[in-house]
Amino acid sequence: MRTTIVIGAGLSGLMGALALAEAGLRPLLLAKGQGATHWTAGTIDVWGADERSPREAVQAIRASQSYHPYALIGVHAVEEAIARFRALTEASRYPYVGGLERNVPLPTAAGALRPAALMPVTMAAGDMRLGGDVLIAGFRELRDFYPPFIAANLAAQGIAARGMYLTLPPAFRRREYTTITFARMFDDPAFRSEIGRQLRAHRGNASRIGLPAVLGLRDPLGAVAHLQNESGAQVFEIPTLPPSVPGIRLFTLFQNAIEQAGGRLQIGSEVIRGEGQDRHLTTIWSEAAARQQAHRVERALLATGGIAGGGIRADHTGIVRETALDLPVRAPASRADWFAPRFLDPQGHAIYAAGVAADARLRPLGADGEIVYENVAVAGATLAGADTVRERSRSGVALATGWAAGRILAGLVS
Ligand SMILES: Cc1cc2nc3c(=O)[nH]c(=O)nc-3n(C[C@H](O)[C@H](O)[C@H](O)COP(=O)(O)OP(=O)(O)OC[C@H]3O[C@@H](n4cnc5c(N)ncnc54)[C@H](O)[C@@H]3O)c2cc1C
Repeated sequence: MRTTIVIGAGLSGLMGALALAEAGLRPLLLAKGQGATHWTAGTIDVWGADERSPREAVQAIRASQSYHPYALIGVHAVEEAIARFRALTEASRYPYVGGLERNVPLPTAAGALRPAALMPVTMAAGDMRLGGDVLIAGFRELRDFYPPFIAANLAAQGIAARGMYLTLPPAFRRREYTTITFARMFDDPAFRSEIGRQLRAHRGNASRIGLPAVLGLRDPLGAVAHLQNESGAQVFEIPTLPPSVPGIRLFTLFQNAIEQAGGRLQIGSEVIRGEGQDRHLTTIWSEAAARQQAHRVERALLATGGIAGGGIRADHTGIVRETALDLPVRAPASRADWFAPRFLDPQGHAIYAAGVAADARLRPLGADGEIVYENVAVAGATLAGADTVRERSRSGVALATGWAAGRILAGLVS
């Protein structure tokens, strides 16, 4: 019987499950559905609220905001998580580059620039400080990715960019097109050769070519190298609207690593309550396909994604609650205090920092500051104390606290 339970399949749950699996604890990961991996850009955003480097920001938070998740675990734990993550992606032939030293401005599918601390190497040449002419190319058949629009917005920011549409070879026409359809096409070398030829014919002076982030599910690194050879330019991926191909690659590599280390993932199982005794969580109840199941618990990691992930619910009466184990939530006392008067308020909105308060070992705390369960750790967006939307730190907080929580539960951190 598996008695190490992880609740949630986002970045925090996956990092935690990996740490627990590698410690030999054979975790069972239960999740209501996929995490934000399948929606997001696939970059790791550690801090992007201001011009400070991610490292400077994390260090300053430690000194000034004691409840912040980065302050609870410290910069060293953030570094450790990043190191393990980079090693995992490297071993899976989908390496991430970057770290805490600086942010890289990458283009979005709207032609805006957003700062990322780590990114898959397939996006790295999208660093908009590199200079030179850039060609943005896409397909009319792929909705919500408009190369002329992206290029015009980049040009308005002083970047020499031009946009063009590629022609889909007749043999690859389909009834419906999604990002996944295109990723499967890019898995085919014949498709890549044809697209590479078109890129070479149209690239003009461009030394770099940005394409939607759909360059294959099986071997994106090989696909980028192939396109670079054919086109004669550096190729980079630009995140698309969901479903996110980079996020799916990331989920798949985590799933493989966790399963190889003895863990198991059960997506489609919602945790509906927990039972405990003497500050110990003893049982978790999950529900799937009209069936409830009890899981005996020795240790559990709560990584349910906060408000966006379904781990924290807020209703019109102002009640804010934690959905899986009914843990106490730290939130504004009144609904009137949820939001700042202005949408883009520099202080952010108080409700976004709502969540489960935790101590330095990420154990959940009650309103009185007492530990609720000794054998539970909380990670990711369900932790209180950070407005990760304003900070642009969501995936960084998830990655770092997930790894730290898994290591703490495994007894690897004293
Ligand atoms: C559209 C979108 C775009 C985003 N873009 C960015 C971005 O550009 N940069 C960035 O840094 N972040 C972005 N984020 C946020 C970010 O990636 C994640 O929110 C963050 O990584 C948090 O991860 P998490 O592991 O805490 O939670 P999530 O990834 O939200 O995962 C939560 C998991 O918990 C499960 N769950 C919830 N309740 C239960 C329950 N009761 N029982 C069982 N399972 C449960 C969910 O099904 C899910 O598997 C975006 C999020 C969204 C939705």
